[in-house]
Amino acid sequence: MAGALAGRADGAIPRSAQAVARPMPEGFLSPFLIFRQYASAHMESSQQHMPQTADGVPDAIQACPVPAANAAGVAPAAANRAAAPVADPSRFVARHVAAMPKSGIRDFFAIASQMRDAISLGIGEPDFVTPYPVREAAMRALEKGRTSYTDNRGLGTLRDAISAYVAANYGPEYDPATEILVTIGVSEALDMALRAILNPGDKVLYHDPCYVSYSPSISLCHAQAIAVPTRSEDGFALTVEALRAAWQPGCKALLLNFPTNPTGGTASRELLGQIARFAQEKDLLVLSDEIYSELTFEGAHTSIASIPGMRERTLFLHGFSKAFAMTGFRIGYACGPAAVMDAVLKVHQYAIMCASIVSQEAALEALLHGRDDMLRMRDKYRERRDFIVRRFNGLGLPCHLPRGAFYAFPKVSVTGLDSMTFAMSLLREQKVAMVPGTAFGTAGAGFCRASFSTSYENIIKASDRIGRFLDSLKIDSLKTD
Ligand code: PMP
Repeated sequence: MAGALAGRADGAIPRSAQAVARPMPEGFLSPFLIFRQYASAHMESSQQHMPQTADGVPDAIQACPVPAANAAGVAPAAANRAAAPVADPSRFVARHVAAMPKSGIRDFFAIASQMRDAISLGIGEPDFVTPYPVREAAMRALEKGRTSYTDNRGLGTLRDAISAYVAANYGPEYDPATEILVTIGVSEALDMALRAILNPGDKVLYHDPCYVSYSPSISLCHAQAIAVPTRSEDGFALTVEALRAAWQPGCKALLLNFPTNPTGGTASRELLGQIARFAQEKDLLVLSDEIYSELTFEGAHTSIASIPGMRERTLFLHGFSKAFAMTGFRIGYACGPAAVMDAVLKVHQYAIMCASIVSQEAALEALLHGRDDMLRMRDKYRERRDFIVRRFNGLGLPCHLPRGAFYAFPKVSVTGLDSMTFAMSLLREQKVAMVPGTAFGTAGAGFCRASFSTSYENIIKASDRIGRFLDSLKIDSLKTD
């Protein structure tokens, strides 16, 4: 690749480049030359296994001379050239970021998307296109020339609608002027909230297994993520006993997600009451990610923010990606007591400014008129859930019934394979992508996540292939349909 980018072997400038070539000022280093210098230096250095100092910085980099600055503090061009990068630019990456693994889910998407005929049960995104009236609202906004920034908190009309929607469906009332912030999905809401509340070294409790971004988002704030393991024997329910066992001095917040990605677990009002009492006793702020709440299949969803005494210590995080099939619009919101939301707003103002006005107009339409479409999609997910769970159990992979979200979480360790080996072998041999449970935390070991946000046909085909894969393992103890 370096060769291809480094130009022709004879050094001649290709005709297409000549057409735009302009004389450059003396001392100018074109990006092309910088890349070529970097590429050759990097190739040499990686071949030589450059010796490292204790803090991981190659010796050669530490020894690299710094060009003398002139009176104006600017390094002369010639010296600049001498100091051009000679070693791995990864030395610039912060230690806590370097130590962070990339999301395990993406690896599986990437592999599956390269395979012809692969079926992905890996994706955590609705397979439905955003309902037409919502798309139309976005188009109308563009037609009307609605292309500006909005108030940092979001459009007033949208905040009014969010306030009414949250009060009607979840209970707590939030003031649109001071207690609601429109964000770029729950992803941004969570990031801004964590950045607004955490001092370096603070600790945040979260249940494991959970959505892949929780622990890294906490670490990015120089805070400490404290996993609270949940157990398959309890249907991965979070228990107050487990919370108590995990709690340590310095815990400031508790991050919850019901229904849960990846287990599909929900929390009863009674359980939420117990968790609320624990949060009050330990003076924790609760960050409640309720992104799957509309996709609750069994019973009614309860928000912890509606438990007496919790509104003032809860940030309610929600968005449009899942229930309204609006992942690409990147739109969500956070609600909470004004004193905390003011701090969240500050971070959002400097980092983001505001969510896209087009997405905000679309979100408004979803809240005002999207309910029927949302329920139609939820019913489809429920049918698929019933089918895939029945199929997994029939194939001998024990699978509890997810009560919400769109993920099944079968126990694959009954095959004798760990979750990563199971997922990789299944992908290689039958071209079905499932995500190893360990991508969601250590408590996910022995399980794989299968998303049923794909067509019924795909789910049928995928489960047939999984059946063939299990047959090939020749395990007597597995039942078959
Ligand atoms: N929270 C959970 C639990 C999720 O599963 C996801 C997406 N998979 C998000 C948040 C991020 O959602 P958004 O598209 O609103 O950023």
